[in-house]
Amino acid sequence: MMRLAYILLGGCLALVSSVAVAAPGGLKTVDINNAGADAYNQGDYVRAIDLFEQAYDREPNSPIIRRNLCNAYQARADQFARSGDLKSAVRLLENATGVEPDNPSPRVQLGAYYLRLNDVDAAIRHLEQAITIKPGDPDAHELLGEAYYRDNDLSSARAQWEYVLKVDPGRTALAERYEKAFREESVETGFDRWRSRHFQVTYPPDVPAEVRGTVIQILDRAYVEIGRELGGVFPPPPIHAIFYYAGQFSEATLQQSHVGAVYDGKIRAPLTLDNGQWIPEPELRRRLTHEYVHVVVRQAGGPGVPWWVNEGLAEFLSRPTTSQDEARLRQLFQAQNVPSLRELESVNINTLSPEDSALAYLHARAAVEMLWNRFGRGRMAQLLQEISRNKPVEQALQEVYRRNYRILDRDLAAQYQ
Ligand SMILES: [Zn+2]
Repeated sequence: MMRLAYILLGGCLALVSSVAVAAPGGLKTVDINNAGADAYNQGDYVRAIDLFEQAYDREPNSPIIRRNLCNAYQARADQFARSGDLKSAVRLLENATGVEPDNPSPRVQLGAYYLRLNDVDAAIRHLEQAITIKPGDPDAHELLGEAYYRDNDLSSARAQWEYVLKVDPGRTALAERYEKAFREESVETGFDRWRSRHFQVTYPPDVPAEVRGTVIQILDRAYVEIGRELGGVFPPPPIHAIFYYAGQFSEATLQQSHVGAVYDGKIRAPLTLDNGQWIPEPELRRRLTHEYVHVVVRQAGGPGVPWWVNEGLAEFLSRPTTSQDEARLRQLFQAQNVPSLRELESVNINTLSPEDSALAYLHARAAVEMLWNRFGRGRMAQLLQEISRNKPVEQALQEVYRRNYRILDRDLAAQYQ
């Protein structure tokens, strides 16, 4: 199961509008700055950056030119981020912090983008600096709380979020995140930690070393294999994985018993069955590989990947199709009351009964398997990349596979009828 509790803010920060004020030291620089301000006000940030950079080269100490250049970098970075090109956005913002080291605004924006890139360490660094420069900005504190949370430093996250909720109690989404973190913290207090090359693993203190070793070996192998399958996607460390006994798992995640593990930005999985026995290794491997696929899909495709692609890939890459699966799919498609992929996409998977959700997963998996087997894994990597650039899903499918939903539905039905 995959539950994304939130989507980070898009990163459009308030920009101080540029003003054309005479800079000391010569008419020419003023003209260049003014032309830059005109371009900025018309929304032509590329030209504005070019002009402000020229003005800045001539007068690097002018606070007005520096602010204008910084604003232009931030506005252009916002454009890049909206088109899904976070790396270019980050590069411009790093320039902005060089031009105006004491301006917290580009650092907050950087923090938000680094979080979206899963570079939690860089996010923490910039957000802590922003808050040191100007404490009290609720957005900066909320983001820093998020970064600490993602780093699994729950008590530091709580301190940031408590402050934000005190000054701005209307943030209901944050209030829910806070409740969730508080619930997890109460279960995970006293857990041990183990750091492998790529993973930070957290688990109850009395778990035997051999169980811990098995878990890490499964994760490390998934890191290499799934990363390769999806075109060389290797998320930056640490990737957090938290393990529980069965009762603790449901207490921390509030999941029903048919849910075997979750990925909510961290992999969370029980190590035991309801009867207290260790989950057998093949089953643990299947569950952890499934959740690790979500980590990679998130890294490659961002938050806009439709659930059927995400779950379809997770199922397809974590276990072989059984003859039972095949039989159920044939039954489903022959009954001819199969939802279309478009309908499947709009279903809220978390509200389905266990039976309906199993069927929806099977359908999603069959669609992904068909695309993978017919067109190869390179196309799937390409599809994720197009979606990460905020392209609508059907348009991305059309460009990568030359097929819209209707044709995919037809192809899929033909396989099972
Ligand atoms: Zn899943």
